[in-house]
Amino acid sequence: MPELPEVETVCRYLDQHISGETVKKATINRYELRKGTRIPYNFIPRVEGQSIKSVTRRGKYILIHLSKDDVIIAHLGMTGKLLVHETMQPIGKHDHVILEFASGKELVFSDPRRFGLILLVEENELYDQPMFKDMGIEPLEEGFNGDYLKAKLSTTKIPVKTALLDQSIVAGLGNIYVCEALFISGLSPLRPAKEVSLGQAKTLVSVIKDLLLKSIAAGGTTFRDYRHSDGKKGEFVSQLLVYGREGQTCEDCNWKKVCGGVKKISLNGRATYYCPRKQV
Ligand SMILES: [Zn+2]
Repeated sequence: MPELPEVETVCRYLDQHISGETVKKATINRYELRKGTRIPYNFIPRVEGQSIKSVTRRGKYILIHLSKDDVIIAHLGMTGKLLVHETMQPIGKHDHVILEFASGKELVFSDPRRFGLILLVEENELYDQPMFKDMGIEPLEEGFNGDYLKAKLSTTKIPVKTALLDQSIVAGLGNIYVCEALFISGLSPLRPAKEVSLGQAKTLVSVIKDLLLKSIAAGGTTFRDYRHSDGKKGEFVSQLLVYGREGQTCEDCNWKKVCGGVKKISLNGRATYYCPRKQV
């Protein structure tokens, strides 16, 4: 599943490549995408003739702002892609939405597994949508700092890892980044959230921001290769310290016998990787 840096990278790419474009023709090949959601039936007449003002992000949602104060909300789910082509291409089997621009370019939403979604809302109702109502702070915003995190963590006994994945505390942090951040910070994923000190919360925040910024700078490919326009699964690159490295020598202990290698457990149904010696 694309994580926040990948989604940010897609947003920046789209903002550069489709802002200013005018929708000449919209085509929808399938209205039902993610279960329980559907593209509004008036999508085509509403979108045609509008131009793209900008593309931004909230959590893992991509927001395509249109000239008449409508917003297309897109989520990539597991396998969704938003592709920009310089000229119109033959329609693929999983191409659900196609926006043809006056310039001849096109934007295609393609999603084989259909866990993604496309919605269309008015700009002034954007943050009233259910997915945004209880969404927490953006991790790269200034307000996400040690004091904020400490205040949120101090009210709950759930494991710190579970708290970091709670979208109402901080938006868009995925499993991979949380595992890596806890390892670098030396905090056990199992530690009760309220037992994280202010100093540890400050460290965690700076580690999280650093990981996200590095990954965005690398085009979102620090952890996974998302250049999969051929539909192939993304490849993990070797920068992961613990995630997916069960039983391997832990980078911190450097010798397997010290900690027994990276340990994998399931925590709230999510794969969790850590070093039981470094992370307390
Ligand atoms: Zn270790």
